[in-house]
Parts: sequence; structure tokens; C-alpha cells
Amino acid sequence: MSNQGNDMKRNHRELGQQLELFMSMEEAPGMPFFLPKGMVIRNQLENLWKEKHQKAGYQEIKTPIMMKQHLWEQSGHWDHYHENMYFSNIDEQNYAIKPMSCPGAVLLYNSKRRSYRELPIRYAELGLVHRHELSGSLNGLLRVRSFTQDDAHIFAREDQVKDEIKHVLELVDEIYSLFGFSYKVELSTRPEKYMGVLEKWNKAEASLQQVLEEKGIDYSLNEGDGAFYGPKIDFHILDSLGRSWQCGTIQLDFQFPEKFGCAYIGDDNKPQQPIMIHRAIYGSIERFMAILIEHFDGSFPLWLAPIQVSILPIAQAHIDYSYQVKAELEKVGFRVEVDDRNEKIGLKIREAEKQKVPFMMVVGQKEMENHSVALRKHKEGNLGDKSLDDAIHFLQSDM
Ligand SMILES: [Zn+2]
Repeated sequence: MSNQGNDMKRNHRELGQQLELFMSMEEAPGMPFFLPKGMVIRNQLENLWKEKHQKAGYQEIKTPIMMKQHLWEQSGHWDHYHENMYFSNIDEQNYAIKPMSCPGAVLLYNSKRRSYRELPIRYAELGLVHRHELSGSLNGLLRVRSFTQDDAHIFAREDQVKDEIKHVLELVDEIYSLFGFSYKVELSTRPEKYMGVLEKWNKAEASLQQVLEEKGIDYSLNEGDGAFYGPKIDFHILDSLGRSWQCGTIQLDFQFPEKFGCAYIGDDNKPQQPIMIHRAIYGSIERFMAILIEHFDGSFPLWLAPIQVSILPIAQAHIDYSYQVKAELEKVGFRVEVDDRNEKIGLKIREAEKQKVPFMMVVGQKEMENHSVALRKHKEGNLGDKSLDDAIHFLQSDM
């Protein structure tokens, strides 16, 4: 019973509406609209992702969301994924809207001659993809028809694959830890219907297994559950309600490079085929946001909160000072709002609590004279009077 109560309270669609994060509208079923506060969270997630990937040696790319039909025939999506795709026709040519970003990354890889010295090439893309889902299955940000995959495609030599997998495992761990998520790891091996050579499969599975063991990562084996083009490692994060969500994935692929004739010139001057690694960490930005909203029950950590500080003047006479405080906080990078309505302070505090703003600063006559604020923390209440400088330091140490 209490579980059900929790789930109701933590429904991300209701929280999304209450906190003004995103909306679903009948004008575009399954394609969410993001409100300004939702965009703050989204941008924080994307900026964090960009920063971490840049440090980890990835190069960011952006490929078109719509490309000609023949590309999708070549990639196999036309045969295997047709029912989930959207199509268009421009200048009497057939196009498809991308359900995945892989072919675009391959076109860029193939756009010039590659040498063994250039590898690994790590292309990262926040790719907007569209996949048709039945209207009955759509659910807020969890199940949508358009979403942004935090994709990356790594083109590597066979002798580099183990190290690349290791680096991805480290990056996944680094990013999940920032949200306080623990996670489970699953290794999925060759399915009954597979493409390619058995020997390559065995080698790839062995190298994934070796890396997991060398890093001392506990994992479960999911025999026969790999993709038809290669084995994979999946990551299931555990949220604060004890639920598990598959988010990240690392997939080895020998088929794509084959289909698209990817090559590099080896140290023997002969063309070789690279191995392609597809990987995602959030999975989908939209879905990850839904999980975060429920995981935190809308009370986001300070760095992620859309509004970090709400300044609450006690009376109209304190409004000017409130805006001064706001300007000083913004100068050091905080996202701040002033509740300058002519309402009782008790009501303003209650509403800021309802909006789950991490910190409140109540200001009245005394605070104005002392250049101070009465600091309050969401759910914890009054933290006492602090000079504005001290309050700023306090917030900075909470980040
Ligand atoms: Zn891919």
C-alpha cells in the first residue's frame, strides 16, 4: 500500500506538471515539449555529458535527422526496423527520419582515408531520433516517439577494443555516481540468429568478459540476448525506490563496418576493418530525466535544480534589497528568483517548499540593514541568519 502511495507521489508526469518541467500535447503525441525549467535540467545533463566526453577524448559531431532511403536500406534498418520509422519525400526523393545515429557517424568516418595511427576515433553525438511507438504505450518522458540518444561510436583496431571498453566502463561509473545511482551490469552473448563469423563472436565475447573481470565488476550473464550484430554490456541503474532501469549500453559491432566498407590503412600498408563500438550512458536524455524526477521526487540536488534559490521579501519595502541579493547570487552563477508578490511570508515559504526549491532566503528590515539573509533549506527549515557572503559560501560548499 505504502509503495503505491509512493509511486503516485513520484509520478514524473505529475511532478513535471507541478514543477513546470515539460508537457505532453495532443498536437504531437509522444513528442514532449520542454518548459524553461525543464530545459535547465536538460542543459545541465547535456553540459555535464559534453564536459566528461571531451575530457575522455571524444569528439562531438551532429548528423542530419533525415537522410535518403538508400542509406537505410544499406544499414539494414529498412528491412529490420521499417515499422518503427517515419518517412518523408522531398524533391521526389524518399527520405527516412533517423531512428538511430549510427549510419551518420559511419558516413563521417568514411568521409576520408584513415590510418591505424588515427584510431581510436570516438564520435559522440546527442542525436535526436524518432521511433514509432503505439499511442497506447506512450508515457510522459518514459516512453516517447522522439528522444535524444547520448550516443557515441568508437572506431577502433582490434588491439584497442579492451582498453576502449575499460574507458567506457569508467566513464559510466563516473557519471552514474554523480546522481548517487548504484547499478547492475549484464553481459549479453550471441543470439540464435546472428550475423557474421563465429570466431569473431567468440573473441569479442571473451574480451568483454575479460575486461569486466579485470575491473572486478560483478555482472550477470545473459546468454543469447546479444544484438544480432554483436555482444553487449548493459547497465541497469537502481533508483531510490529500488526499481531498476536499463540505461547505458556498450555494444560491439562487426556488421556495420562490413556493410559500409569502413577501413583504415594498417601499419603493413594494407586496408583493415575497424571494430565499431556503439555506446550510450544516459540512454535517452528524456527517459533519464523521467528517472531522475522520480528518483529525487522532484527535489533535485543543488547543481541540477532549475531554480536554486528563492528570495522571499517579507514586505514590499524589501523588494529592492531582494533584487540586490539576486544580482549578487547571479554574479557567482546561481539560478535565482524573487517572489515579489504582495503575499504573506508564510505562504511564500509554503509555495517555495512545494516547488522544491533547494534554498530560500527570507529578507526583512533587519536583513536589509545588516546586508544579510535568513537562510532556509528545503524540507529542513531555518538555518539562521547569515551575512550574504557567508550564505553564498554555504551554498557553494553544498554543490
Ligand atoms: Zn549506434
